[in-house]
Amino acid sequence: MKSAAFEYVRPKSLADAIGLLAQASGAAQQEAQAKDAQLMAGGQSLVAMMNLRVATPDLLIDIGRLDELQTVSEDADHVSLGACVTHAAIEDGKVEDPTNGMLASVAAGIAYRAVRNRGTVGGSLAHADPAAELPLVAQVLDAGLVLRSESGTRTLPAAAFFAGSDSRNYYRGDRATARFAHAINGNGIIVTPYVGANLERDWSTGSLAPTKSPWSFFGRKGNLKMRRPNPRVDIGSITSGLGGITTEVVRGGVEGKLDAMLEQSIRVALKPDCSGFAGPICPQAQSTDNFTQLTLDGQVGFPTFGSQTFAFKGHAVVSWSGTQVPAQRFAYLGGSGTLATVDLLALGGDHLLFVQGDYIIPFDRIQLPLVGPPFLGLRYAAGSAGVGGLPTLIQNLGVGVGASLFRVDYTIDPAQNRSPFSRKSAFSFGVSLAL
Ligand SMILES: Cc1cc2nc3c(=O)[nH]c(=O)nc-3n(C[C@H](O)[C@H](O)[C@H](O)COP(=O)(O)OP(=O)(O)OC[C@H]3O[C@@H](n4cnc5c(N)ncnc54)[C@H](O)[C@@H]3O)c2cc1C
Repeated sequence: MKSAAFEYVRPKSLADAIGLLAQASGAAQQEAQAKDAQLMAGGQSLVAMMNLRVATPDLLIDIGRLDELQTVSEDADHVSLGACVTHAAIEDGKVEDPTNGMLASVAAGIAYRAVRNRGTVGGSLAHADPAAELPLVAQVLDAGLVLRSESGTRTLPAAAFFAGSDSRNYYRGDRATARFAHAINGNGIIVTPYVGANLERDWSTGSLAPTKSPWSFFGRKGNLKMRRPNPRVDIGSITSGLGGITTEVVRGGVEGKLDAMLEQSIRVALKPDCSGFAGPICPQAQSTDNFTQLTLDGQVGFPTFGSQTFAFKGHAVVSWSGTQVPAQRFAYLGGSGTLATVDLLALGGDHLLFVQGDYIIPFDRIQLPLVGPPFLGLRYAAGSAGVGGLPTLIQNLGVGVGASLFRVDYTIDPAQNRSPFSRKSAFSFGVSLAL
């Protein structure tokens, strides 16, 4: 198969290339006949996609020979690679390798020499094949990606470029749940088995060029300016049955609660949200694969010495599906309520584990007006979330002070930034609400 007809242009400068892109997208907004312009660097992925007619650009802007994109520079902290530096140049040691040979060895492992001669760093990152080497390496090295358009230049961390550090929930849905529960009460233990059903209709707010953004106090002026969409959920409906059991214990000062819930989908009708994607690049296939999800949620608290107390809570999610569990069933960790040194809701997936232990030492001799005695709190938390399995746990150690419902914590990650999402320490302020 050969590609559909297209116009080809080789701009003389980066500014010209950016101008051509902007012109094409401006024309796309105004004209009924939208013009899909694509950059081509080494052409190693794009040309194959065009030959298969997975990509059918009207205009191909060849940036592969632009000198500005071949440059390599370095300062005390960084080495910057131009987007059109080839894999072969890295393999041959023609660019500074701050990783002591890792970059060269990764580049040498990409395909075969003919592909490496033409394939570029920028092309590999922009193509973002989940199986490709350089997107992974960029995230491991916490690289910054410099993005340019007519409106300016901005640098995004690789993790934000691929997965997004802004994990606010763009998922929207209407859901109706019916549950039949029966509580059995005896001897300080309440056991409540339940069965029920969920019916929901899901969609995402925003698109690749978002017109709507979620509302927030934070992050409005950050790099992403709240305009970067999160991975979107597929649009459609899910009907599922659920069953579970809640056990509550209040005995001898021990208070505990464990909820185990199993959800089994009965009908899944989801299709990809393609708004903002250029035509055929977005797969159209409807997903109907069923999934099963087990959610465990538990907490227990008891007195230790005098008025001191220990509280433990744990949360686990495990999901199975023939293919992939729909993103609307992903669970997230991060932020002051969970792992304070991880960005809010930055870790997510269909597997999740979170445990937290809190030791509270009240200063009984001090009585503050209205809120009573202040306390010192020691905290250990550990968690992880991922798709199809659990990556290494991230741990947090915290110390905090508070009174009544309020507490301020200082938390560190003892493994020192082991995760690309992790900061080394964080202050957080919390108000506990018992609901
Ligand atoms: C046979 C074969 C085997 C391969 N095996 C591997 C492998 O084992 N491991 C691996 O990691 N990779 C592999 N690749 C991918 C290859 O290494 C290239 O990284 C990849 O093809 C993209 O680089 P490119 O410069 O050719 O980009 P192109 O094909 O020119 O472009 C790819 C996409 O990126 C966009 N793009 C390109 N440059 C930019 C830019 N500067 N800014 C914005 N968007 C841009 C294009 O518009 C296009 O959408 C293989 C490719 C082939 C053909």
